[in-house]
Amino acid sequence: MKYIYTFFSFLLVTSCTGQVKEVDNTFNGRALPENTCYVVNGGTEKPFSGEYWNHKEEGSYICVACDSPLFSSDHKYQSGSGWPSYYDVLNEGNVRKLKDLSLGMERIEIRCNTCDAHLGHLFNDGPKPTGIRYCVNSASLKFKPSKL
Ligand SMILES: [Zn+2]
Repeated sequence: MKYIYTFFSFLLVTSCTGQVKEVDNTFNGRALPENTCYVVNGGTEKPFSGEYWNHKEEGSYICVACDSPLFSSDHKYQSGSGWPSYYDVLNEGNVRKLKDLSLGMERIEIRCNTCDAHLGHLFNDGPKPTGIRYCVNSASLKFKPSKL
């Protein structure tokens, strides 16, 4: 059991830094809190636990690792999922979509197109006019109180 734990710790450290010996939590050259680092590397925060799932101020949401503008409060809505949800992106080119076959499901993963940080997943149960729900981890985002 101890061996398994050590092995997974090792994996976490190496996947966060890309280097075996460094223990800092960095992504895209930026030091990030441990939980943030876990999420931008593909993890998922617990629902209703993040900073922005119930955040209602007007402004923009930018990438936590590179500041690329990703989402706007104009497209944010209460999905009830416990994660910040948007029915559109600020700029189509800033969010990359990839097929994700993990957990035995076929889903679409969304990542920052600039630094490759994992953002969340995309579902087709969003409201009009797009019918799409961008389900995003709070940890992948930073809020800017001004619209871009
Ligand atoms: Zn980014």
